[in-house]
Amino acid sequence: MSKNLTKRSEDYSKWYNELVVKADLAENSGVRGCMVIKPYGYAIWEKMQAELDKKFKETGHENAYFPLFIPKSYFSKEASHVDGFAKECAVVTHYRLRTAEDGSIEVDPDAKLEEELIVRPTSETIIWDTYRKWIQSYRDLPLLINQWANVVRWEMRTRLFLRTAEFLWQEGHTAHATQKEAIAEAEQMMNVYADFAQNFMAIPVVKGVKTANERFAGALETYCIEALMQDGKALQAGTSHFLGQNFAKAFDVKFANQEGKQEYVWATSWGVSTRLMGALVMTHSDDNGLVLPPNLAPIQVVIVPIYKTDEQFDAISETAKQLMADLRKLNITVKYDNRETHKPGWKFNEYELKGVPLRVAIGPNDLANGTFEVARRDTLTKEIVTNTDIVQYLQGKLEQIQSDMYNKALDYRDSHITEVNTFEEFKEVLDTKAGFVSAHWDGTPETEEKIKELTKATIRCIALDRVEEAGTCVFTGNQSVGRVLFARAY
Ligand code: AMP
Repeated sequence: MSKNLTKRSEDYSKWYNELVVKADLAENSGVRGCMVIKPYGYAIWEKMQAELDKKFKETGHENAYFPLFIPKSYFSKEASHVDGFAKECAVVTHYRLRTAEDGSIEVDPDAKLEEELIVRPTSETIIWDTYRKWIQSYRDLPLLINQWANVVRWEMRTRLFLRTAEFLWQEGHTAHATQKEAIAEAEQMMNVYADFAQNFMAIPVVKGVKTANERFAGALETYCIEALMQDGKALQAGTSHFLGQNFAKAFDVKFANQEGKQEYVWATSWGVSTRLMGALVMTHSDDNGLVLPPNLAPIQVVIVPIYKTDEQFDAISETAKQLMADLRKLNITVKYDNRETHKPGWKFNEYELKGVPLRVAIGPNDLANGTFEVARRDTLTKEIVTNTDIVQYLQGKLEQIQSDMYNKALDYRDSHITEVNTFEEFKEVLDTKAGFVSAHWDGTPETEEKIKELTKATIRCIALDRVEEAGTCVFTGNQSVGRVLFARAY
């Protein structure tokens, strides 16, 4: 199999698009902005889901499912929410088709819905309409619910995984008796996402809060995790919102507190989407294809036999089967590719393209010497390992690859956070090195807008661990209380 991937240094964006398709992750469909996620891509998504789902349950959440459609009247109840999403809503107006006189199929004008339905871009409204029925007293709180679903946002410029019109995600929606609890929940879920990104996806992230401009429509605070891609552009990898009492007020969700007094409920919502697949590709992969961290690889070890005769094949298969059994006992996912229809070289290429962390080749010489040839996908290095050590060796290597990949991405990220003190420097860093630009900002949306207009860079976040440091805004020279992270972003 020939990879013929465009090099990252030539055209990063083209490299990404080709890689997603060639590695069999996803492809464009006949529907504008909507993708088909292929089995290999979906297997990685399922691994993400399984781990996140476990973490949600460990933190006390339960899964539920709410309708795909939201009546327009619900959607309109929270003013800033509808403002934020109005421009990207798909709306269902009719419920029937008919055959026209010329034989074509058309919408039946007699089947107009009395009230239009919005295809959910996010589910706060339908969920808070439901919570009104579920919450009466402080005993009903907290309510900790997550939903795995698809949503639709009519995005104009779409990219496979990174920004699609329909995407898969999870959305947590929680209800609390106090503001303090709700804020703690929103922070907790940001930490869950950060932990997942770093330990499973091997992606370092900055934890922070969004500026008012970049906040979720209807939120009082948006916590986020921001990652940096290999081309120096930032990617919002997950968000967790403190919604205050906005939705409770819009949907009249009150509870009787311990003194029997009626109070509005406090809310959070939080989500990560199939965009994480894009983050995974753009953080680790190289000019030969995908590079997957072992924790998310659908196949962690692949065994490829190299043989000429049937006897050799049989002997190799026996060794391979023993190795598979030993690895499976350790919960390592292993595949033996014994297809006779493809040559070893073709298979090597294929597994490189698909990012399988470890490849074990067994040939007649290995059998004679009691050895295996082990290739690491992340470093493209090979080693000969003796039979007796192989299982421990592979197990250890998987752990090492996971942490090496994280450290490599962390080095890249850390060397791409640049402090600047003048607007000239600001622009120069963006145009040459890119990455996060750490600069003083006067705190006004106007300055933020102006900088965005001039440079296409947005404030990715106010990092939670930033040092309070008096300074002057890089653009206006006005007072600033600390640096924020700017970047061009996906
Ligand atoms: P939000 O509800 O806007 O806070 O977004 C929740 C999560 O979905 C965030 O992690 C976003 O980065 C991600 N997201 C937002 N829009 C899209 C899109 N069009 N395609 C894929 N992911 C998205």
